[in-house]
Amino acid sequence: MAYDWLKGISDHYDVVVIGSGLAGLTGANTLAKCGHKVLLLEHHYQLGGLATWFTRKGGHIFDISLHGFPVGMIKSVRKYWNQNIADSIVQLKGIRFINPQFQVDTTFDREDFTRILIEKFAVQAETVERFFRDLREMNFYDNNPETTAEMFDRYFPGRDDVKRLLMEPIAYANGSTLDDPAITFGIVFSNFMSKGVYTFQGGSDLLIKKMGEELKKNGVEVRKHVVVEKVLTEEAGGRKHVTAVVANGRTIRCDAVLSNANIKSTVLRIAGAENFSPEFVAQTDAVRINSSSCQVYLGIRKGESIPHIGDLVFTSDAPKFSTGELVDMHTTSRTFSVYYPDTRPGSDRYTIVCSLNSTYAAWNSLSEEEYQKEKLRLIEESISTLERHIPDVRAKLDWIEAATPCTIEYYTRHWAGTSFGTKFEGLKVSMELPNQLPGLFHAGSVGIIMSGWLGTINYGVIVSNQMDKYLAEIKRAAEAVSA
Ligand SMILES: Cc1cc2nc3c(=O)[nH]c(=O)nc-3n(C[C@H](O)[C@H](O)[C@H](O)COP(=O)(O)OP(=O)(O)OC[C@H]3O[C@@H](n4cnc5c(N)ncnc54)[C@H](O)[C@@H]3O)c2cc1C
Repeated sequence: MAYDWLKGISDHYDVVVIGSGLAGLTGANTLAKCGHKVLLLEHHYQLGGLATWFTRKGGHIFDISLHGFPVGMIKSVRKYWNQNIADSIVQLKGIRFINPQFQVDTTFDREDFTRILIEKFAVQAETVERFFRDLREMNFYDNNPETTAEMFDRYFPGRDDVKRLLMEPIAYANGSTLDDPAITFGIVFSNFMSKGVYTFQGGSDLLIKKMGEELKKNGVEVRKHVVVEKVLTEEAGGRKHVTAVVANGRTIRCDAVLSNANIKSTVLRIAGAENFSPEFVAQTDAVRINSSSCQVYLGIRKGESIPHIGDLVFTSDAPKFSTGELVDMHTTSRTFSVYYPDTRPGSDRYTIVCSLNSTYAAWNSLSEEEYQKEKLRLIEESISTLERHIPDVRAKLDWIEAATPCTIEYYTRHWAGTSFGTKFEGLKVSMELPNQLPGLFHAGSVGIIMSGWLGTINYGVIVSNQMDKYLAEIKRAAEAVSA
């Protein structure tokens, strides 16, 4: 008989959290700290969602999305997790760009970018200053329809090289394009520019272990290998509200659900269109899914070492930056994240993760034979590119593996294997969800600005505060009835 991953759970929880991405984990922790009884259900055998890792023969540990996040993570993690986790966040100083238009080494902060834009790209100091100042003042509630491309043209007309320097790293971090609203670039870029790029020393495995310990301390019941199939509703006073979830075939009653699954999956698959107005369903249908990723994981044999070539190396052979080239099956644009031994203090190991933006449609349409062939091509091209920086690297590798958007779909169940949630309009649907179906909330990568490590952690907090108010209201209503 199959193992019962839900063995011993209660019949009722205040909140069920679907998914353990950073928004789900942070939401669960915040709600538990508010005194709610929380059950967190994750379908994978590991917590963390995309902020996860895997181990391989030869002692390799590969991080999926631990590449770099803004300094704001220190404050968010200290406030919503604990000081101990925040203390492991350290700066990455070696950011490199190597492409036909320029070669740049930078600490990726405002001061260094100002210097580079003025000295290397010969942009007027006043323009650079105005650009950074205006970006900082951008406000989500301004509803400015200007696209990132239009904004770049205002400050740097005809400067494809400047656009590439500004846009390429952000596109890798959140899948945004030149056609997305400028606010999606402005918020994320400004966050990075405030003090540079940071990482978690100890790796995703240590981060998630520490988060798991904190959840346990705060009383969250965590279960892995559990798929939430359905959210159940009942009608009272002419309105539907959430009453339970069905997970691994079992009904678990709850007052509210926080879904960290993709917003389209949450509305159309897990809750079901029947629970929403036709207008809301149409609005959800129209939400565009963001792009996805391919990765090549390269493990250096124990005892071997490689030189320091930078922490994040953005490479491309494309003559110019273009959103189409970046997600093309045959893109030459890739980022190498190099994990030196100090990534995991006490270790003597090196790993390299090569990330490429990609589309699910391109990979999902291949036959099994073509799929395997394309994966081998991806691996070969990535190693050859890396050999330009570390000529003898091939001989030092003893683990090589590739992942595609189909791999992401398999491990996260995300709609069309997206690694960056949805385009901008997804945020509106996510925020409107509890008004449509009381008790159902969503936190996770949406609208580009609520994606990435920092965006999802912060969104998890924002939404769990709304849930805390909702739970207090229904508790008050129940007390009034029984009085
Ligand atoms: C290759 C790559 C590189 C990246 N680089 C960066 C970077 O440099 N900097 C940065 O800040 N961000 C980066 N990101 C993005 C960042 O990792 C994500 O935005 C963030 O981790 C997403 O968190 P989330 O809360 O939206 O949930 P996710 O991590 O997407 O997790 C959702 C979870 O829900 C679970 N789930 C879904 N449906 C169900 C169900 N029905 N039942 C149970 N469980 C379910 C999934 O299994 C998953 O664990 C990168 C992502 C990728 C893929």
